Amino acid sequence: MNFNEAEGERYRQNEEMMTCPFNKSHRVQPARFALHVVRCEKKHPHIKLEKCLYNSTHYFKKSKMAAHLLECPDKKKNL
Ligand SMILES: [Zn+2]
Ligand SMILES: [Zn+2]
Repeated sequence: MNFNEAEGERYRQNEEMMTCPFNKSHRVQPARFALHVVRCEKKHPHIKLEKCLYNSTHYFKKSKMAAHLLECPDKKKNL
């Protein structure tokens, strides 16, 4: 069925793309995410986000970072 194939394809694409923390309309390939975020951070100097200690592609507002650090999925990898 073409419908199911199309649905599956859309699901895979959503799965592969990551959302830019500086602009939610930016959908970025994981391989480009780190580079994109660094560039986007410079384009949005008014948005102050902190980088996760455990994964440089995790950006959160300062108020949410403490909570994220407690449950970051990459924390265990470094322990
Ligand atoms: Zn962006
Ligand atoms: Zn993290």
